Amino acid sequence: MPLSADTFTINLYMALASPVVGSGIAAGAARFANGASWDFTPSTCPACGRRLGLLELIPLVSWAAQRGKCRGCSAPISRSYPMIELAAVAVALWAWLATPGSVFAATCVMGWLLLALSAIDIRTQRLPNVLNLALALSGIAVTAMIDMNLIVEHLAAAAIGYGALVAVEVAYRRLRGRDGLGRGDSKLLGAIGAWVGLQGLAACLFVAAASAIVFILVASRVRGTEIRGDMAIAFGPFLALGGWVTWVYGPLIF
Ligand SMILES: [Zn+2]
Repeated sequence: MPLSADTFTINLYMALASPVVGSGIAAGAARFANGASWDFTPSTCPACGRRLGLLELIPLVSWAAQRGKCRGCSAPISRSYPMIELAAVAVALWAWLATPGSVFAATCVMGWLLLALSAIDIRTQRLPNVLNLALALSGIAVTAMIDMNLIVEHLAAAAIGYGALVAVEVAYRRLRGRDGLGRGDSKLLGAIGAWVGLQGLAACLFVAAASAIVFILVASRVRGTEIRGDMAIAFGPFLALGGWVTWVYGPLIF
């Protein structure tokens, strides 16, 4: 089906906005990690409190031009800012290359929400409810736009995804006497279920578990540390990767 000119224009604007979206995600994640409010108050340097000017808020460019330092106090600016900005651009690029234009905008929304959740989970080991909820609701809305007949199945996938990881969480606590999974992980898998449906749920979990195992193996090699059962890693980013790959490429057929 050829794209309408309107859809193409929306897609183009979304792609062009991706560095700014990344900038917003990076700032929001930093504020959440520091316990600050993540509303639209102006950004300040966390070291000297100086309010940032417009020229210091250009995604990627400002960080590179200032060589990663505050222009007022020369305090180093976290590398997470340009990395998250690049990741937001990569989401848009990946979506543009791998999905039909009719779902490009939806795919960007999913990818950026997953990016925000991952960035926060890595720093704080928490997945904010408001972002999981936004992911679930947008998944249901996109499903409704694609095919109303899929709504029931995708709602079921949301419930089953959530319930399955809650069951794992409870069983783990009973068996090992400590927390393994957080409730945020269950909510995230539920929200992903709203996007990918029942078939996609298994694929998402498979990719998440496999990539987490590979990550642990590689990380322990690189750091030269032993792999222990009580190592704490954020599982959210792996679930996010599983959900993204499943949405973009479709469920794996086992
Ligand atoms: Zn400063």
